[in-house]
Amino acid sequence: PLFERQSNGNSRIMVFVRLRPMMKKEKEAGSRSCVRIVNRRDVYLTEFASEHDYLRLKRVRGRHFTFDASFPESATQQEVYSTTTSELVEAVLQGRNGSVFCYGATGAGKTYTMLGTVENPGVMVLAIKDLFTKVRQRSCDGNHVVHLSYLEGIVAAGLSQYRAYSTDEVMALLLQGNKNRTTEPTRMNETSSRSHAILQVVVEYRTRDAAMNIVNRVGKLSLIDLAGSERALATDQRTLRSIEGANINRSLLALSSCINALVEGKKHIPYRNSKLTQLLKDSLGGACNTVMIANISPSNLSFGETQNTLHWADRAK
Ligand code: ADP
Ligand code: MG
Repeated sequence: PLFERQSNGNSRIMVFVRLRPMMKKEKEAGSRSCVRIVNRRDVYLTEFASEHDYLRLKRVRGRHFTFDASFPESATQQEVYSTTTSELVEAVLQGRNGSVFCYGATGAGKTYTMLGTVENPGVMVLAIKDLFTKVRQRSCDGNHVVHLSYLEGIVAAGLSQYRAYSTDEVMALLLQGNKNRTTEPTRMNETSSRSHAILQVVVEYRTRDAAMNIVNRVGKLSLIDLAGSERALATDQRTLRSIEGANINRSLLALSSCINALVEGKKHIPYRNSKLTQLLKDSLGGACNTVMIANISPSNLSFGETQNTLHWADRAK
């Protein structure tokens, strides 16, 4: 099975990497690819000093990483969903909690992976579809109830909750939730690099035990498009001035601390350090399944950010 506890009882965090295709803009800027994915698993990050070296494959610096799975440019949305999230959807239907995060710099492909486009819907959309299909299959007795909430801008503590009963309703909510991001292209990047978008789906399953008492089982799935990780790095350079920036930074650092504590099997997990981790307290660690998808660009112009993202993902394993 994909989600197995480690023998020492620590929380197992599944870590994946997704490489997006080179964008036209990057090609036009003369960028070269510095990432190679082999066998859907190994990631080779290479830095070349010059075009001359590049053509002769003369590497300056390089590193090899390996993850639970790594997706090359050609990976489809469906493949990413099936490998990373579909088992978690199944677990949620059985009353367990789980979360999927996309982590990476702005422009690395987090929103594409999570939300996707109308033609190529992402993990959020595919998970909801799958969830409703499975609920429908199992609820001929009318025992399943699905709750859904969409949150955008945890930093500002903005929170709205909805109940939805069909895929169409969920799609409408997702589009509505994403509207702020798409109406103004210039502000879109600003918003998505500064805020976390979180979709939480709660599945309540009502059934009867052996003594014929009614039992409620609840599973919660959290799907999180994190703010751009370059913010977290900005503090190191002491360039971070805005309060918002500081909050984003704090929440990403708090998330990292929680994940590191979970990976190391610590007793105390510092959930209280940020709103983000408080909100995800019941969805991280313990009997929960946690999935990280680290998004990276192939361009050598993003070498530094890619390297940071890969190091972060490597520590989360
Ligand atoms: P982020 O949310 O990390 O800032 P985006 O998801 O907005 O980044 O991706 C940046 C751009 O790259 C977008 O135009 C997006 O459509 C495109 N893109 C990202 N990943 C892929 C992919 N796997 N395949 C095709 N286009 C992608
Ligand atoms: Mg985004």
